[in-house]
This record gives sequence, C-alpha cells and structure tokens, in this order.
Amino acid sequence: MEEYLRLVKWLLESRNTVGFTGAGVSTESGIPDFRSPGGLWQRYDPQDFTFQNFLSNVSSRQRYWEMSTEAFTTISQAKPNAAHMALVELEQLGLLDSIITQNIDGLHQLAGSSPSRVIELHGTCRTVSCLSCRKRWPREDIHAMVLGGLKVPLCDSCGGLLKPDTISFGQPMPEKETAEAFRRSQEAELFLVLGSSLLVQPAASMPVVAKEGGARLVIVNRDPTALDSMADLLIRGSCGAVMQEVLKRLKESLRGLEPKA
Ligand code: NAD
Repeated sequence: MEEYLRLVKWLLESRNTVGFTGAGVSTESGIPDFRSPGGLWQRYDPQDFTFQNFLSNVSSRQRYWEMSTEAFTTISQAKPNAAHMALVELEQLGLLDSIITQNIDGLHQLAGSSPSRVIELHGTCRTVSCLSCRKRWPREDIHAMVLGGLKVPLCDSCGGLLKPDTISFGQPMPEKETAEAFRRSQEAELFLVLGSSLLVQPAASMPVVAKEGGARLVIVNRDPTALDSMADLLIRGSCGAVMQEVLKRLKESLRGLEPKA
C-alpha cells in the first residue's frame, strides 16, 4: 500500500527516528490497554488510583495492589509481539535511535531493544521500591507475597510503603527520563507513534514538540487519536500487522539499493 511505502521512504531518509509507544503496542501480547472496550478503566475507576489516594488511605492502597497484581499476573506471562520485534529490527538496521514508551511492561527490552535506547516515561512494573528509604526489589518477590495473601506490602527495612516503580496519576514524572524524552522529541526527524490514544499528558505533548522541531509525524493506531489532524501520515490498523508489512517493504527497498554483482 502507498502509505507503507511512504513510511519506508521516510525511515530511510531520516537521520534521527524516534519510536513513541503506548498501551496499543502491547495489546497483541495479551495486555489490555486502558481505554478500549474491555480495558482496565471499564472495571476500575481511574480516580481511585491517584498517588494522593495511595499515600493517604489504606483501602485505596489495597485496591491499588489488587489491580496492579492482576495486571502484573498478565504482564509477567506476556511475550513481545511483531510490533516490538519490528522496532528491534529497525534498531539493528541503524534506522531507529530511541524508543519513548508510556508502557510499564518492559516488553521492548524483552524483545531485544537496547535498554539504553528505551526511555520509560511512566516507569516499570518489574521492580518495586520503598517510598521512604528507596530500597528496591524484583517485582516477582513482592508479587509472590501478595499472591500469598499479603494485602499491602511494607518495607522490611524501614516499614515504609512499597509501590511498583510505575508513575500513578498525580505522581511526579521521573525528571531524567522526562527531560531526555523531550530532548529526543525535539531533535527527531521522524517521530513514529505506535498504539497510543495520545491523551495522557505530558507524554502526549511529545509528538507536538517533535513536529514543532521539524519532524515528520507518523501515527499508527487502530482508533482515532487526539493528534490525528497534526500527522503527516496516519495508518489505521494494528501495530503488529502494520509494522510487519513496513519491515517487509523496507527490506525489499534495501535489497533494491544493494550494488549488483
Ligand atoms: P490508551 O489505552 O489510552 O490508548 C491505547 C490506544 O491504542 C487506543 O487508541 C487503541 O485504539 C490503540 N490500540 C489498541 N490496540 C491496538 C493495536 N493492536 N494496534 C494499534 N492500535 C491499538 O493507552 P496510552 O495512550 O498508552 O495511555 C494510557 C496509559 O496507560 C499510559 O500511561 C501507559 O502507561 C498505561 N498502560 C500501559 C500498559 C502497558 O504497559 N502495556 C497497559 C495499559 C495502560
């Protein structure tokens, strides 16, 4: 299709391509997003999961750990899909500089993307930290205790509150990652959004910053997003199928560019 070829051409032309991923890049791995039918926000109230509620009341903390434990049970069994693998291949071909992800599932790194090139804007669910002394655990250790019946885990060193290393609504964004993501967006020549509604701030302002910095903006998403009118190219479809096709066309183009014997 013509739109795939356009993306291939832009990938080959760009000297600085940034992938920007949201929950939609992982739904094909079996991890539900928040806003689609069947998503987490149809069963849980997002207002309940603010950082302030987590800090101030024990019943919210308990509901947080219930929701988060359900999500981690799914995430810990999930495997990267074709979209994650396509980004790994793009990096290996020297055609992808970094990935800014809103996802907390760690699937880009599991797929094989270089950890140093993946910026986790909303943290990771694969570790848990004490909010007081910052002691850190692998998630599996705390997960086993919660599955064993512990409702609200506390730090064994200082008694502080434990929380997965993800960013909740109302929780300060990680400074280093946020600054790095804005810098990368500003410097991008091609900014490729995969599977995001582009509704969550400040992440959703990164495509705007990229565009203002002169980047071409491409959005691959199943449903309309908040920034469709700004995109240079919109591809409606599933991230896995679209990116598989893009990689196929890209490799054909690269073979065509090889010198003939
Ligand atoms: P979102 O739920 O707001 O939007 C997801 C978008 O992806 C939707 O527009 C949907 O149409 C699209 N989509 C779903 N499956 C798709 C597919 N296979 N192919 C193409 N498009 C598809 O997600 P968001 O924009 O990432 O923002 C929500 C927040 O939820 C983020 O902060 C993120 O941290 C968090 N979250 C993360 C995970 C995860 O780590 N896997 C899962 C759920 C939510």
